[in-house]
Amino acid sequence: MHFSKEFDIIIVGGGHAGTEAALAAARLGQKTLLLTQNLDTLGQMSCNPSIGGIGKGHLVREIDALGGAMALAIDEAGIQFRTLNSSKGAAVRATRAQADRILYRQAIHKRLEAQPNLLLLQSTVDDLLLQGDKIVGVVTHLGITFAARAVVLTVGTFLGGLAHVGDRNFQAGRMGDPASVKLAQRLREIDLAVGRLKTGTPPRIDANTIDFRELREQPGDEPTPVFSFLGKVTQHPQQVSCWLTRTNEKTHEIIRTGLDRSPLYTGQIEGIGPRYCPSIEDKVVRFSERDSHTVFLEPEGLGTSEIYPNGVSTSLPFDIQVELVHSIKGLENAHITRPGYAIEYDYFDPRALKRSLETKAIDGLFFAGQINGTTGYEEAAVQGLLAGLNASLKLKGQAPWCPGRDEAYLGVLIDDLVTRGVTEPYRMFTSRAEFRLQLREDNADMRLTEIGYQLGLVDEERWQIFNAKREAIEIEKERLRHTWVSSAVIHKLQTAQTGSEQSDDRSYSLYELLRRPGVHYRELLSSSATEQPEISDQVAQQVEIDVKYEGYIARQKQEVKRQAQYEAMILPRDLDYSTVHGLSNEVRQKLGQHQPETIGQASRISGVTPAAISLLLVHMKRGG
Ligand code: FAD
Repeated sequence: MHFSKEFDIIIVGGGHAGTEAALAAARLGQKTLLLTQNLDTLGQMSCNPSIGGIGKGHLVREIDALGGAMALAIDEAGIQFRTLNSSKGAAVRATRAQADRILYRQAIHKRLEAQPNLLLLQSTVDDLLLQGDKIVGVVTHLGITFAARAVVLTVGTFLGGLAHVGDRNFQAGRMGDPASVKLAQRLREIDLAVGRLKTGTPPRIDANTIDFRELREQPGDEPTPVFSFLGKVTQHPQQVSCWLTRTNEKTHEIIRTGLDRSPLYTGQIEGIGPRYCPSIEDKVVRFSERDSHTVFLEPEGLGTSEIYPNGVSTSLPFDIQVELVHSIKGLENAHITRPGYAIEYDYFDPRALKRSLETKAIDGLFFAGQINGTTGYEEAAVQGLLAGLNASLKLKGQAPWCPGRDEAYLGVLIDDLVTRGVTEPYRMFTSRAEFRLQLREDNADMRLTEIGYQLGLVDEERWQIFNAKREAIEIEKERLRHTWVSSAVIHKLQTAQTGSEQSDDRSYSLYELLRRPGVHYRELLSSSATEQPEISDQVAQQVEIDVKYEGYIARQKQEVKRQAQYEAMILPRDLDYSTVHGLSNEVRQKLGQHQPETIGQASRISGVTPAAISLLLVHMKRGG
């Protein structure tokens, strides 16, 4: 049967990538259909109930600045908010929220249902409809065909998904959901390089069986952070604490006795897992010198007593899981409500994608999320937003939007994926961004909301609020530049900070004083006895950071300029690297394999050294 209604864009999969993709495409006015296996799992968190963290929080703010849903949803669903790295510089500070997973799903579902131009349909996609190398629709498990001009695939860990608990394995997309087997087979027929990755999750525990008396409590931060630039603390539901405990020598011994039945160590799991997020068995083997690892006991929600023990992800057999949990302080009598498991799945080499996230092989087919070799809700969501946007722009005959590495973590993520590919599940870290001083959580709106508005992603309400904030920041910075105070103000600030006194008879602008280390905006104003304008905390924070970072950012802009020159230097597609004098065989091979489009891209391929780039530049100068 052919479904009578035609769509501009079909999104396959209602996880974090799919929901942002659907919302973005529909916001751009495309007739959009979201097809997903189960409407009850829209926005489902497959693993840890939390959003954000270092690097990831930056992505959430960027999604928000571009009008996406994730930050707004977590503000309605977060049951504990913290600012990580709060004592460090603004560039690496990051928001993290523990989520009530049911409230989170509801917050996403509500937004999808309210979105004009978007229809939802529960169905499993088994096949893609192609005309030559162009996508024209999809076919569902009921044999219904749906026509569309573009398709975004966001099927996460479901392609050929294989779950492992000890020596048992079974097909699953994640626990409780079926794997996508037919679609995986179909995709393997297309000319795309496919690989296997794996990820894992810990067993869940009933809080009623935990002895919290001797465990360390970890409450959320006060004042409570918010995620969205439009968010308010009053939107947060009830806030709760997490708890800390630790593994010990006995735990590690139990794990070691189970290794001969661990699918990771018997070779049953072929897929590569995330090195930075290892299973507990991996940690015990790789860091054998450590006699203990922290375990965070995180509530799964307000309406459940289930606890997520963060730090003991495992695919060991169930009997070993029970023993290892019982060996941990506070968990001696704990009841496991869901076993931990690992999952292996197909992903596609992201180097086969354009920067727009459209596949190079099939016109109109876009990939976003875990299918591209990433891991994490935030990494998936931001790709979804970009793919939904770029699919829409393509249908409108407009150029794709591909932010640079100096504009957004999103730009870093996409460039890393399409240039370098992945060797393990890719997650975002602040260390991946060379221009991180300017890519901060706090200024994501200043970096992206204007372009988001021009692209049609940002609505009028957000645009007006953003403009008012931007104006208030500029007015206040201007006022600080032109408000002069005597050195007595420094004297007051210094006495408060160090107890020492030092003053001269010069006048200083408040702007100049705010640049000094240790001087904070609110304290400066109260010490200066000048006008106290009524400005929000968001504006005050931005003014302070802008002023303090001004010098560093100016220097970073120079580097961005140099890099931009490299980005503009196009490498001929048919360049024969064996003719470039002086390159090592390894570099020649890498360049030939990756076929970088620009010198900039070439410089980011691992193993391509600055010396090799100089040789390439010389070759190009000679007209080679
Ligand atoms: P998903 O959230 O997986 O969503 C895919 C969606 O596609 C689902 O709605 C599914 O029903 C739908 N779907 C699949 N096939 C079809 C089809 N054929 N037709 C229609 N709909 C379909 N991330 C971390 O950051 N840290 C971790 O420690 C971590 N551990 C994990 C452990 C496990 C066991 C699992 C399963 C995942 C883990 N993840 C972890 C990964 C995290 O869940 C994903 O990164 C994230 O959910 C990816 O989002 P996505 O939108 O790409 O895919």
